Amino acid sequence: MRIYNTLSHKVEEFVPREAGKVGMYTCGPTVYHYAHIGNLRSYIMEDVLEKYLRFTGLDVKRVMNITDVGHLTSDGDTGDDKMLKGAKREHKSVMEIAQFYTDAFFADCKKLNIKTPDVVVPATTYVDEFIRVISSLMDKGYAYEAGGNIYFDTSKTDNYNVFHNFTEDDLEVGVREGVEEDTNKRNKADFVLWFTKSKFDDQELKWESPWGVGYPGWHIECSCISMKNLGEYLDLHCGGVDNIFPHHTNEIAQSEAYLGHKWCNYWFHVHHLNTSSGKMSKSKGEFLTVSLLEEKGYDPLVYRFFCLQSHYRKGLVFTWENLDNAKAAYNKLTARIGKIVSDAKDTKAEPDEISALEEGFRAAMDDDLNTSNAMTALYDILKAEASPAAKAAAIENIDKVLSLGLIEAAKKSAELSEDDIPEEVKALAEERAQARKAKDFAKADELRDRIAALGYTVKETRQGTVITKN
Ligand code: AMP
Ligand code: ZN
Repeated sequence: MRIYNTLSHKVEEFVPREAGKVGMYTCGPTVYHYAHIGNLRSYIMEDVLEKYLRFTGLDVKRVMNITDVGHLTSDGDTGDDKMLKGAKREHKSVMEIAQFYTDAFFADCKKLNIKTPDVVVPATTYVDEFIRVISSLMDKGYAYEAGGNIYFDTSKTDNYNVFHNFTEDDLEVGVREGVEEDTNKRNKADFVLWFTKSKFDDQELKWESPWGVGYPGWHIECSCISMKNLGEYLDLHCGGVDNIFPHHTNEIAQSEAYLGHKWCNYWFHVHHLNTSSGKMSKSKGEFLTVSLLEEKGYDPLVYRFFCLQSHYRKGLVFTWENLDNAKAAYNKLTARIGKIVSDAKDTKAEPDEISALEEGFRAAMDDDLNTSNAMTALYDILKAEASPAAKAAAIENIDKVLSLGLIEAAKKSAELSEDDIPEEVKALAEERAQARKAKDFAKADELRDRIAALGYTVKETRQGTVITKN
């Protein structure tokens, strides 16, 4: 597979260090609010990447952090503590807020068919590890104490601006209008590893450390959680493009200073979802969530479908009209697949025929995870000269990566519409539902047999009673 590496600014062949195995790290959510659908664009594309790597036969171990401490409203070291802001807003403790929004995040992921990473680590459970790595950075001369805080000394690294994306002005992190410059820093780009001089008198979460009671900076958590779970060499690190600087730049500086060698080979960044008024942002307060999409009658998988129609390295503009178009296309697609699935009933296909149909999909995905072309390849399967059984099997395989629930949705759409079912069958089905409710299973079975004698099958599903023609 070839993939764009932000480190080299090139599309490169993806070669894991150890044959057949991939260590993959993903920056997780900051859990002070619901994830917005922009954040979830990043997680959807990372999920597709992970699943495609598995599809090609690689054994992936994926690790993700949960940021429940240390992330300030600026990605540098300034502004308010995001978690504390969330707790104040909702009159709850920081840990209550963290638990609530962590659960909400995984509930959203489930609705979007995003697999939970193999290892998920809340930052607050790893403070001893942060202290151990920061102590080592102090011993090695990469970190210094000033004004009570511990800073990473960026002048000690040969190549701090490793992504080469930033100017001197950009590197002046955290200095924004209305925010005082941190005069403790020896160099403008230095960043905090450990805070003891908190601006927040009521900072709830604090730990003992060799440098005083305090709390970790944001960047150190990802380095430590990755190194502890994936070892000192990492294959692949993911995040949204806003993470490139300063977060990932700082992760690389401190990890490589600690390890004494190159840390991660491939950096995968997902471009932003924007609305017509600009970037979607949690801190702006008003943003779109999965629940809102559902309230408006959209299946969350329609949003996943919408995301997959575009390449991850292009900005994506969200409008309701675009989502409506995706919804119409998704329904049409699943109806067409429904026809194929029912035509394929009780027939089998040869493995060669199936894998030939998958070729276009593989070619698109091998080309820098081009999901947009992969969708075209999916439509090509529908039109191909091949048996319905081979088409259905190829679509089912491909959907292990795309995770659009295609086969389930197709089966549903292949079920008879209300109007096609005779009144007599509908009445018997209703009677059967009542019998089941009353736990009169003998009667329910008898009614099922009478429905079968008329040529129909009745089933109870999570969506209610479903009647299909035999
Ligand atoms: P956060 O919860 O703010 O730490 O962000 C979680 C993830 O979402 C990070 O990988 C961010 O880079 C990513 N992200 C933030 N905003 C957007 C956006 N508008 N579109 C896509 N990804 C985003
Ligand atoms: Zn991170």
